[in-house]
Amino acid sequence: LEEGARSSLLRHRHRLEQDIKPGYLMDHMISDGVVTVDEEERIRKQPTRKDQAVSLLELLLKKDNQAYVSFYNALVKEAYDDLANLLHGHLPRPPCEGDKSPSDGPTSYVQAMLSEGGVPQRPVVFVSRPELVNRVREKLYRLQKNPGWVTVFGMAGSGKSVLAAEAVRHHGLIEDCFPGGIHWLSIGQLDKPDLLVKIQTLCFRLEQSLDSQSLHRPPNSLDEAKERLRFLMLRRYPRSLLILDDIWDSTVLKAFDIHCRILLTTRNRSVTDSVSGAKYEVGVESGLDEDKSLEILGLYTRTRPRTLPEEARSIVRECKGSPLVVSLIGALLKEKPDRWSYYLRQLQQKQFKRIRKSSSYDYDALDQAMAASIEVLPEEHQELYRDLTVLEKDIKIPAQVLCVLWDLEEEEVEDILHEFVNKSLLFVDSNTKPYLYYLHDLQLDFLVEQNRTQLECLHAKVVRQYQQHYGDRHPTSGEEECLYWIRFLTFHMAKANLTQELYSHMFSLDWVSTKSQIMGPAHLINDYVEFGSILDKEVRGQFQEFLSLNGHQLEQRPFPDVVQLALSQPHNSEVYRQARQQAETRASAG
Ligand code: ADP
Repeated sequence: LEEGARSSLLRHRHRLEQDIKPGYLMDHMISDGVVTVDEEERIRKQPTRKDQAVSLLELLLKKDNQAYVSFYNALVKEAYDDLANLLHGHLPRPPCEGDKSPSDGPTSYVQAMLSEGGVPQRPVVFVSRPELVNRVREKLYRLQKNPGWVTVFGMAGSGKSVLAAEAVRHHGLIEDCFPGGIHWLSIGQLDKPDLLVKIQTLCFRLEQSLDSQSLHRPPNSLDEAKERLRFLMLRRYPRSLLILDDIWDSTVLKAFDIHCRILLTTRNRSVTDSVSGAKYEVGVESGLDEDKSLEILGLYTRTRPRTLPEEARSIVRECKGSPLVVSLIGALLKEKPDRWSYYLRQLQQKQFKRIRKSSSYDYDALDQAMAASIEVLPEEHQELYRDLTVLEKDIKIPAQVLCVLWDLEEEEVEDILHEFVNKSLLFVDSNTKPYLYYLHDLQLDFLVEQNRTQLECLHAKVVRQYQQHYGDRHPTSGEEECLYWIRFLTFHMAKANLTQELYSHMFSLDWVSTKSQIMGPAHLINDYVEFGSILDKEVRGQFQEFLSLNGHQLEQRPFPDVVQLALSQPHNSEVYRQARQQAETRASAG
């Protein structure tokens, strides 16, 4: 019932209770279909007219706008003109025509429906994501005729809950698919007793809004709760939608596997694997585009996007438009508008603990939100996930690389990666063959922050695993995993402080030949510069010179004979020495 209508009923309650004859009014209301015969009977059983009037009003207050309108019409028909006039000012507009805004602007009908069901409001600062919202609505329409599940999945803070709430804020959708109502339930990580309490509360809520008289004993086991809910959804709330926010565990979902219509949000794409019925899913990309992100910062700080300081763009870039992070920082800036560069620095230095809570989010700080995702992995997988700390930003890797790093069979690796992807801990680019996997910058930053003291070990592990797998050979096939190793092996050596290994690669004509053949000489030159502080200055100079002198040759295909090229280097250089040695070996081999 709309707020205005409710308050006018409450205000005039006494007058109404004094004057009306419920019997006649209820006849009209029954024929309008807003009061059931059962309800009427219960009211008629009241001993006096006054008691009946009291309970009719009690009932009306729990009903919807339509009931109010019907009650008003009944008053008119029964010639209670004065009373009808009292209610007239708050007649809800019928949920049709003019009220149905062409787009998705929430109408009073929608608002009443959603607040009744406990659907959260839009966050104070809100930007629209029309494409995503439409995708969710499109899936919800599939539930029009039949029950089923719509899963909205994505990483922590990508805006899943906001999106779910937004998707149902739509007149046509509710009217067409869920006229029975929309009921929101926040789940989160919980154990069985907590789950039971949640379902008890839900059942109580559903029973209450039907009828306050029925004081059922709360269900006291999960099975019983499931049955009660099944009955309520099937019999009392047909064609309604249950929204389960933030599901972690498929065992939780089993309690809701009752053949009804469900929209759920989760980081774990596979939670619905073990429930039955039609299933649809929508993936939420982790970031907003730059304009939307700037819009959020602008709204928080009451600045027009164009006049935002330079740092705004950097903040957006740094967190890749994560709705959570942008909003967290926006909320902080609202309090302290002169701290743009401070918060940017915090973000760059990964001081996630300082980037705290916007009131609407469940986690105190970003780091907790991230950690929560990892903590639910089995322990051995947590360890494997930690190994990913050593990846470089924006670098995508094939499963093969992880077979080497984890020393596991390809199938096993694929299963694990699949799990990570499903739990929104990792992303997959499936446009390529083989698939390539990568971390979101925030995830990587978080891992680096969390494992700050172990970085050297983690990089060393990569090198050791590589050596164990390939021995002295280098992979040369030109396949994806080979590209990774050729590109990053020495990087891992440098980070692991494995100076010996680094020397023996960077100062090896073989490596120079392999890497420049596969990656081109520019990459190598870059390595010499990057590892400059670790490498011997003189020898490094000799290799760099060789590369810059022969750069154009090394770009040629077929690839030239590097030994030949190197023989023309100054005779006192390491490059020449190795070339000569190899030439002699070749000669003696005939
Ligand atoms: P998830 O459910 O994916 O963890 P939420 O939907 O709870 O993420 O969103 C996290 C935070 O991000 C919200 O509290 C809000 O501040 C911000 N946010 C998400 N979506 C939007 C949006 N469309 N407009 C503005 N802020 C948003």
